[in-house]
Amino acid sequence: MDTAKPLHGQVAVITGAGRGIGASIARQLAALGATCVLCGRTQSTLDLTAQTILQSGGQVEVIPCDVTVLHQLEYAAARVNSTFGRLDILVNNAGVGRFNEPLHNLLPEDWDRILNTNLRGVYYAIRAFVPLMIRGFSGHIINISSLAGKNPVPNGAAYAASKWGLNGLSYSVAEELRGQNIRVSVVCPGSVETELSPHAGKDPNKMLQPDDIAHVVAMLVLQTPQSFVSEVLIRPTQKP
Ligand code: NDP
Repeated sequence: MDTAKPLHGQVAVITGAGRGIGASIARQLAALGATCVLCGRTQSTLDLTAQTILQSGGQVEVIPCDVTVLHQLEYAAARVNSTFGRLDILVNNAGVGRFNEPLHNLLPEDWDRILNTNLRGVYYAIRAFVPLMIRGFSGHIINISSLAGKNPVPNGAAYAASKWGLNGLSYSVAEELRGQNIRVSVVCPGSVETELSPHAGKDPNKMLQPDDIAHVVAMLVLQTPQSFVSEVLIRPTQKP
């Protein structure tokens, strides 16, 4: 354990940490010294992320949970409280998308899955974990939104609606919590090369990589404590 690392002694919860952007963020925060609590629905992929963190000398805990189920997040928060007694960073990263049809053809169950994961899931995580931060009079919540929360997305209207909603939620919660010394940032990436993103017609070499987003999260949590960056838009340098 390296006590000189900037996040030494801090605890970070990352949702959707089994693969893609969430796995990268977890590895990055662990490398900065945070103890990372990995959440997601699939134990095996969470274990893979945990293994890579342990191999690099980081500290990690796996708590499988589905962000659409409030009591699973409440259970995760209770475990974080009983194991660590604190929470410093919450990264709401878990998300799903569908980019195949116009809204009038989208099935109601797909609408529910997208909105329940990307928007309700963030509300549930905030509801479950924020009391721990308030108790410590400190914390940083980072919501992973998207440029789809800033732009129209034809054939991805439900996803766009969930991310536009997430941006509004983030700006509002930032105002609610700043008096409690809790910072709220929202990160809006363009296309990142992961399972979620439609790759058709795009050059993967030019797409953003998960580590690019993890780098932004590292910059946010290392920001001087008396200030916070409320929103970051991140684009690939060359259009993919
Ligand atoms: P991936 O599909 O690679 O990863 C999504 C992660 O979310 C998985 O670990 C998945 O794990 C988890 N997840 C999905 N549903 C749930 C749930 N109900 N409860 C808990 N965990 C869940 O996608 P990305 O890494 O690309 O996406 C991460 C975030 O980044 C998302 O919010 C996405 O909207 C956002 N984003 C992605 C962009 C891109 O181009 N890829 C661009 C902009 C934003 P499991 O299935 O095991 O639960």
